[in-house]
Amino acid sequence: MDIYTGTFFEQARENFAVIADYLEIPLHQRDRLLLPKRALIVACPIHRDDGSEVVFTGYRVQHHLTMGPTKGGTRYAANLHLGEVAALAISMSWKCALAGLPYGGAKGGVAVDPYGLSRRELEAVSRRYMQEMIPFVGPKTDVMAPDMGTNEQVMAWYMDTYSMYQGQTVTEIVTGKPVDAGGTVGRREATGRGVVHLVGRAMERLKMNPIESTAIIQGFGNVGSVTAATLAQQGVRVVGASDHTACYYDSHGLDVTAMIRHVEKHGVLAGYSSEAVFDPAQLLTQPCDILVPAAMEQVITADVARRLKCRILAEGANGPTTPEADRVLNERQSEIFVIPDILCNAGGVVVSYFEWVQDLQQLFWTEPEVRDRLNRVLERAFQAVMARVERDKVPHRTAALAIGVEKVQKAKLTRGLFP
Ligand code: NAD
Repeated sequence: MDIYTGTFFEQARENFAVIADYLEIPLHQRDRLLLPKRALIVACPIHRDDGSEVVFTGYRVQHHLTMGPTKGGTRYAANLHLGEVAALAISMSWKCALAGLPYGGAKGGVAVDPYGLSRRELEAVSRRYMQEMIPFVGPKTDVMAPDMGTNEQVMAWYMDTYSMYQGQTVTEIVTGKPVDAGGTVGRREATGRGVVHLVGRAMERLKMNPIESTAIIQGFGNVGSVTAATLAQQGVRVVGASDHTACYYDSHGLDVTAMIRHVEKHGVLAGYSSEAVFDPAQLLTQPCDILVPAAMEQVITADVARRLKCRILAEGANGPTTPEADRVLNERQSEIFVIPDILCNAGGVVVSYFEWVQDLQQLFWTEPEVRDRLNRVLERAFQAVMARVERDKVPHRTAALAIGVEKVQKAKLTRGLFP
């Protein structure tokens, strides 16, 4: 099926092929496991602030419906396209299965630069996108969440738009909402906290001490900034951080709290400081103990992978490592401990699942309950991945993907052809 195109979709296909060979999945079952169940493309016209009209393209891909509703984020990015959305939906399926959540994967978004919109324009795009999605999504069909370029406020607009159409408040239609609009405590921080929990487990295995360790973080949005703050709280020295507007490096350590305050006020890192300004192209390959790509996909190419000087690579972003880079990392297994994306950033969808459950029951948990349950789910997934690594002598990514793919495969064989 060549409607899904682009290098990122090819990456999803290649990652799957490696797993399918390793699991010896019969050739005739492979398309059914890999190709998305369905996809929707919509036009989202809005009025700009100057009165002109513009149309943005919106997407939603639902990968499989075998284990329950689909679940996945909504991305706003200028160059978003169907292949990218489909690749992210597929990855969500393996991630949900690895974490033991009763979901298939989905992903969606709008091809728009969110930083180029006023707040009113952002609201207009968001409401129009959700309005177009109403026939396609539902609390028992497909549940959206935030991703790059969207946030709690966008989720609140989605929920409100869907609810107005239904004539009643349907909080369970999206997750990642503000707490005062039916969200759960701990969702905003969940992905970053999950990253740090798993980094902690890796450090234990490698006998590393947080107080003596350094970290570099690419991306300073939801995932990157929470990861940076949580690592700093644990005594790790954050020496490098960047977003799409600025990059800073200081071997003595950056003031993460001050950087977060700056981003809360100005939206981006640019203008934070005139000191410690650094070349973003060199950031990932600086010496550090913990490297966290938490922005875009495909930033770790084979060339970058060869030059990495970290001890732990914690993939906060989805798909930051290309298949060629992965082969390099496999050769460097004894030097670099990889926490693959579908494990590393699973904290977000795990707490999204908790939010959905709480909304369906209208019974809300405390922050310690959310944290404790999150850690238990991540712990179980981490132990399962490490047990597989040790049993089959496979790389961490192969083990994580195999556990996810295997669960979906079994469910499909049990249920039959339809979902
Ligand atoms: P976000 O929009 O909150 O932040 C994205 C950050 O990346 C911003 O700081 C942006 O400036 C930065 N960025 C963009 N282009 C960059 C570049 N060229 N160089 C450096 N930085 C750049 O998005 P987010 O929710 O933090 O998502 C980041 C990544 O984490 C994505 O890959 C997303 O799919 C993944 N993820 C997010 C969640 C979640 O709960 N939000 C869950 C799992 C995975």
